[in-house]
Amino acid sequence: MAKVDTDIREQIDMFELEKQQQAVLTELLELCRASLDEVDEDHITKAFKLCCLSHEGVQRASGEPYYLHPVEVAKIMAGDFNIDDESVIAALLHDTVEDTSVTLDQAEEVFGPVVRHLIDGVTKISGVFESRDTKQAETFMKLILSMAEDIRVVLIKFADRLHNMRTISALPRQKQLKKATETMELYAPLAHRFGLFKIKNEFEDLCFKVIDPNSYKFIVRKLREKKKAREEFINQFMQPIQEELKELSFKFEIKGRPKHIYSIYRKMQRQQKPFEEIYDLFAIRIILEDPHKKEDCWRVYSIITDKYTPIPKRFRDFISVPKANGYQSLHTTVITKQGRKVEVQIRTRKMDDIAEHGVAAHWKYKEGKSGGSDTLDKFVHWVRDVLDSPRPDAATEFVKDFQLNLYQDEIYVFTPQGELKTLPKGASCIDFAFEIHSEIGERAVAAKVNGKMVPLRQKLHSGDQVEIITGNKINLNADWIEDVVTHKAKARLRQFIKQKELKVADEGRELWEKKSSKGKFEVSDQELMKVAHRFKFENTQEMFYEIGAGAFDVNKLYKVVKELKSKGRFDTEEQDDKVSGDDIQEKYISTARAVGDTKALLVEGELSGVKYSYANCCNPIPGDEVIGFISRDGDVKVHRSNCKNAHHLIRTDGERIIDVSWAKNIESQFLGAVKVIGEDRVGLVNDITEVLSKSLKTNMKSINVSSEGGMFEGILTLYISDLKHLEEIINRLERIEGVKNVLRYE
Ligand code: MN
Repeated sequence: MAKVDTDIREQIDMFELEKQQQAVLTELLELCRASLDEVDEDHITKAFKLCCLSHEGVQRASGEPYYLHPVEVAKIMAGDFNIDDESVIAALLHDTVEDTSVTLDQAEEVFGPVVRHLIDGVTKISGVFESRDTKQAETFMKLILSMAEDIRVVLIKFADRLHNMRTISALPRQKQLKKATETMELYAPLAHRFGLFKIKNEFEDLCFKVIDPNSYKFIVRKLREKKKAREEFINQFMQPIQEELKELSFKFEIKGRPKHIYSIYRKMQRQQKPFEEIYDLFAIRIILEDPHKKEDCWRVYSIITDKYTPIPKRFRDFISVPKANGYQSLHTTVITKQGRKVEVQIRTRKMDDIAEHGVAAHWKYKEGKSGGSDTLDKFVHWVRDVLDSPRPDAATEFVKDFQLNLYQDEIYVFTPQGELKTLPKGASCIDFAFEIHSEIGERAVAAKVNGKMVPLRQKLHSGDQVEIITGNKINLNADWIEDVVTHKAKARLRQFIKQKELKVADEGRELWEKKSSKGKFEVSDQELMKVAHRFKFENTQEMFYEIGAGAFDVNKLYKVVKELKSKGRFDTEEQDDKVSGDDIQEKYISTARAVGDTKALLVEGELSGVKYSYANCCNPIPGDEVIGFISRDGDVKVHRSNCKNAHHLIRTDGERIIDVSWAKNIESQFLGAVKVIGEDRVGLVNDITEVLSKSLKTNMKSINVSSEGGMFEGILTLYISDLKHLEEIINRLERIEGVKNVLRYE
């Protein structure tokens, strides 16, 4: 890597291009001159030199000099996207700041703030794309924001990935698969979203070639075999049309390219049909050169349908009603005399550019400041919608919705006023209502589709005219969450469900307050939390929600609180005080399973002297929060209060709970188990037993070890004196080399 010091201008000026580099630069400048309106040749040359000098001596996996990669990316920006010279410069430098010692400040010094902003944006979003993960939702949002801010950043990233995919064969197979999957999952749908169909198709084909090379080769071979017959057929089909168009002095281009390889494959899979049947669906595109306008598309349409019979239901007018991503074209399918179906697409050059390059084409066709960037506006609008979502913690859900929306096709429905709305496929009347206005969504009571009353959850189809009937108060239904697909509706319903839960919890709390006001005690929030935990609720909110919903009996809560209150058992210090008294000695009773000394458990009051034992399911040890259950024959079973079985018993047989606590000084040893997970290595078991016996003075009853695929899993059954002791054991074991995790095991 070349060292680039502070005086960047001087370094650039001093740098001498090699012969081959000079040739590459000349070619790039020619391409820029041919494809861009304005070309700052001096800056492009400087950027090219900086690119060469900063990557000097570095090679790509293929062995070619690294600088050729940024140059190829720059060529895509100029030749495919026709954006501007600033994005060509940024493309040339897109890896420079990240991979070399050149700084953003230096880049700005020479090329100005816009180029700096573009390079910075590309560097930032690269990380987001590469480490895609739901945990990255925050970063993902920022990425979207930067996209909305300057579309060129995203286009450079697409061009970068495109060139990397084109040259992927130099990488090891494992890396190829990773890149291809990532591209298929993220870049291709995103390119689709931006209307970059040409790029999207190329992404898919390049990925398909890596992921399923055999099917790819099969289709490529088949296409090659059929090429001649195809060209002949197209010529024959187009001949009468071409003649007439020429006579009318139309200027046009005919494209008879087959569908891209991956889409043929997908169609074969989806329709379970052989290659020939899919392939036989010819699609011919007639592109009218400037200055032809959309009216001329209709004239061409009528010429075609004079010669061939159209299939009416296959007619699509995307000129009057463009797709949300800006796609415009007339589609018709006609039948030849031999009965062959041919799809014909008719569009102007501008429409074709937009169809292939999406938002990038808008750049080229932007008319003034506001016109021509409809798609971009819509996209930015959508991003704002998402970001305005009522819940700030919706980040993960955001990513889910985002991916969902990427793959959905759209439907077009009309308002009663005939205004057109675009919705994702699968949208219901509820989605539509929210699309009109969030207040309409909230107050919707019924819907009319094409004049007929329908349930609100009914799914909509393209062409439906939808009217929403509203009431004057909010009328949301939690179950609707299953019936909506748009982000807006989903976000509002999630918020509603949350509010509803809060309301039920409030009702539950009221029930409790009514009930507890009869008792002569005051309960603090902390105390309530303790009881809630005892009943295995996360918090009091959850407990009150269940009370409010009728799932948990408020009387059970009352009974337990009253009992605890009357015996003053809420406070642990209090417990300890009581236990320390001499008179307590007589209350110690023998344990069923405790090893060694028996005076372990204190059972209160008139129940002292009763027989009790420790539950096998949770093996409580001193220090654990415990609860006793009186069994049918009067014995007491002691459970840990967070034991699942205990939880169940509390809910079903609450009246059998008995308060149980540990005596202060317990000499007994209890059986407990821990699970040790780690990397398997020689001497690990030895190290474990050593630590146990020497530093922890702990006896082991048994050890059960299994190892698989280099991982070790051991279950140690130990004699433990109390919770503190157990925690110490876990702590010490975790510090052994190779041990990943130590858990209490039940
Ligand atoms: Mn790159």
